Amino acid sequence: MDDCLFCKIVAGEIPATTLHVTERTVAFADIEPQAPLHALVVPRTHVPNAAALAAAEPDTMAELVATAAAVATAAGHPDDYRLTFNTGAGAGQTVFHAHLHVLAGRDFTWPPG
Ligand code: C5P
Repeated sequence: MDDCLFCKIVAGEIPATTLHVTERTVAFADIEPQAPLHALVVPRTHVPNAAALAAAEPDTMAELVATAAAVATAAGHPDDYRLTFNTGAGAGQTVFHAHLHVLAGRDFTWPPG
């Protein structure tokens, strides 16, 4: 999609700190980290949110989670990390290309803010 920020990161048109790439996913460091490790894992295909990804490409959804685990493990956090999909503006989604937040390296509270 022409005006999608994460499509441009996937295409290498906007710089990002890439952490891990697979056939169908790209993981990069979040520009405003909320934890010592804060990565985003995105599908190469443009879909607006996690539910749309699961419906269109279930295998890619599984790959997204596997990539997130690989990123957390590589950062030294194989067992304790938080995965988050914000879906919809009311839930805090600001970029409408599906992305999985991977956060680790500090204690987390529940419920989230
Ligand atoms: O879930 P949400 O849509 O709010 O997440 C978008 C994320 O994209 C934010 O955590 C923001 O810091 C990140 N971002 C980024 N690089 C950009 C623009 C936004 O990592 N150039």
